[in-house]
Amino acid sequence: MAEMRRVTAICNGTAIDHIPSGHALQLLKMLRLDVGRSNPISLVMNVPSGKMGRKDVLKIEDRELNQEELDRLALIAPKASVAIIRNYAVAEKRRIDLGEELVNIARCSFSNCITQNPNEPLPHRLRVISAEPLEIRCAYCGRGQDVDEVADYIL
Ligand SMILES: [Zn+2]
Repeated sequence: MAEMRRVTAICNGTAIDHIPSGHALQLLKMLRLDVGRSNPISLVMNVPSGKMGRKDVLKIEDRELNQEELDRLALIAPKASVAIIRNYAVAEKRRIDLGEELVNIARCSFSNCITQNPNEPLPHRLRVISAEPLEIRCAYCGRGQDVDEVADYIL
């Protein structure tokens, strides 16, 4: 618990803990919180963690992430713990669920995939082949996706 105090307590919002070290910015990108006018965000990187060695912690004020948003995070931080904060206290804990298929979360990174054809609108479906290590493949063309680049292909 002491390590959480490094980040300013927030009144209302979402706290994401146990993010793999160095990935908090990628997470913000996946949540589309890195551009434009956004809620106040506290970000702490490379916090020593007993469980993980080093970790990142993210707190987003005045915003409760929903399950669809949380499931996006499974691509980068499947073991992160999420707490919904209300009035400075943990009101709810939420789980990040990777599931078996990611529908309309990220697109296939291959330009000649059928999903890139604007005349043929299809849902974007990426299959989870394995969770550890993370391996995902396009449900249409079957090509493996580069997990490190997936944040660039978020819809
Ligand atoms: Zn594809």
